[in-house]
Amino acid sequence: MKNFKKVVGLLLTLMMIFTMGGCSTKAGTDKKGIKDGVYTGEGEGKGGKIVTEITIKDSIIKEIKVIESHDTEGLSEAAIKEMIDKVIANNSPDVDMVSGASITTKGLMEAINSALAKAGANANNLAKVKKVEEKEEAAEQNYDVVVIGGGGAGMIAAIEAKNAGANVVILEKMSFVGGNTMISGGEFAASENWLQAKENIKDSADTHYNDTLKGGDNKNDKTLVRKLADNALAAATWLKDYIKVEFEDELMFFGGHSVKRSLVPKGASGGEITKKLKAKVDELKIPVKLNTKASQLVTNDKGRVTGVKAEKNGKTIMFNAKNGVVMASGGFGRNIEMRKKYNPKIDEKILSTNSVGSTGDGIVMAEAIGADLVGMEYIQTYPICDPLSGMLLYMDDARLVGGTILVNKEGKRFVEELERRDVISNAITQQTGQCTYEFWDENTTKISKIAENHPEEMKYLITNKLLVKANTIKEVADFFGVDAKELENTVNRYNTFAKSGKDTDFNKRGKLTEFGAGPYYLMKAVPAVHHTMGGIKIDDETHVISKEGKVIEGLYSAGEVTGGVHGTNRLGSNAMADISVFGRIAGVNAAKGK
Ligand code: ADP
Repeated sequence: MKNFKKVVGLLLTLMMIFTMGGCSTKAGTDKKGIKDGVYTGEGEGKGGKIVTEITIKDSIIKEIKVIESHDTEGLSEAAIKEMIDKVIANNSPDVDMVSGASITTKGLMEAINSALAKAGANANNLAKVKKVEEKEEAAEQNYDVVVIGGGGAGMIAAIEAKNAGANVVILEKMSFVGGNTMISGGEFAASENWLQAKENIKDSADTHYNDTLKGGDNKNDKTLVRKLADNALAAATWLKDYIKVEFEDELMFFGGHSVKRSLVPKGASGGEITKKLKAKVDELKIPVKLNTKASQLVTNDKGRVTGVKAEKNGKTIMFNAKNGVVMASGGFGRNIEMRKKYNPKIDEKILSTNSVGSTGDGIVMAEAIGADLVGMEYIQTYPICDPLSGMLLYMDDARLVGGTILVNKEGKRFVEELERRDVISNAITQQTGQCTYEFWDENTTKISKIAENHPEEMKYLITNKLLVKANTIKEVADFFGVDAKELENTVNRYNTFAKSGKDTDFNKRGKLTEFGAGPYYLMKAVPAVHHTMGGIKIDDETHVISKEGKVIEGLYSAGEVTGGVHGTNRLGSNAMADISVFGRIAGVNAAKGK
């Protein structure tokens, strides 16, 4: 969901410092040929060199630090953290790779293996060393509220449930919290917000409601949209004042909204939101069970949900929920089979911007106990993604401040740049090579802060020849074999629109800014699966609704796992409003069991 951004706030500190000697600094015991000490090793990641520093004590891998990495975009950073946790948990480099970030994980494992080799350690001799067993989880545990999923919606629901007096636990199948929310841009659509007031932008919950319905082709559940639009500002204010999320002082103008209404968290990163949510979860002493995958909703003889079965380290744990279970396990953008089942067009050829945990587990679990599903065929692609990995490209924030044009190989514009994501994505797939080239100038780079906010992404794109910066329009066009003459004509024509204030070709909304002097930028991009609009049917109090149209007692749901809020197509920055508004309601209601 959302706009995927680089992660901020993972426990990992990726620093581009420290000297690299590649040798042991502290010698220790020698057991099974393994020498205790601190070792460094190198590998080749997506953005260049990855250097790890590994501490071995009593022949056990105690700590792995990444002391140099240039792969800090959301998925890469999350994958690094996950791989490190796995290696330490297993005391072995022989672990499954994280899918979706293969270049990074391969480079990381090279670095880990080369450091281990210096200690004389390998999968064989490490396996012979007995690790002190981590504290066993009790096979049956009792809570008032069990939340499935430690992404945005789940953490928000857990915080509200706790504050409503419940004893609550979060189950998270990955080795880290954050989900898609963490790797999103975290932008939040809320009408009549504090920045709109400063900028004198006239807006209302009704306008937000109408935009959202229009954006979803009126296939949205109107009661849910009403709730979303009416409560978005209160939820954004709660994030700002209670969760202490810091917001930038500029709004963003997302496609399909009729006014500029999207608040931007610090660094334009969802990581700012999940980091602060996790801090609040910790402050409230809410237990988070990592590597714990919910597999089944348990019901009593009346059909009420009374708990969750989950798997951890091959063992089944029963989490009883006295008052309620909140399903907040996110979407299914990473589950290709499920995508194809509901929309055969969204097959393996289309990459995804999503977090690896977005596999639709909650939808399967809820359907198994009779929940109704809505809008499953509506799967959104984000138009501007990395043609190599599917990662959403944050350079595209420049488009959202109104400063770019999208052209095809022929150098021509073909769509309004602030159109809905689905419209732009579909238009791109009709162009030569099923890709687009985004053009902007130095002034836009400054205004949008893209180089400042996303330096690693810019470097990665330039290294991989997906972005070019040059002094003339001809040079950037020639780099990609785009028709240079035609691109110059397109830019000149667009500048006349900027002067007159009216784009007579595509009616681009918002203020049109003239392209100035170079350097210029041109970036190649393709659409990739970004948000699954369909999911579990809920009412506006987040009760899960059965195929017979009845409330399933004891089960609440919020976030991308639910369907109906966004209709056929989610407008950018409505996801944060969605998870916050409905996550809060789900937490309060589950705590009360009402
Ligand atoms: P939302 O934006 O709706 O909160 P996210 O993608 O941010 O969705 O978060 C969903 C979280 O749920 C992710 O962290 C994901 O790893 C987790 N998750 C998915 N399936 C399960 C499962 N079966 N058990 C526990 N956690 C799950």
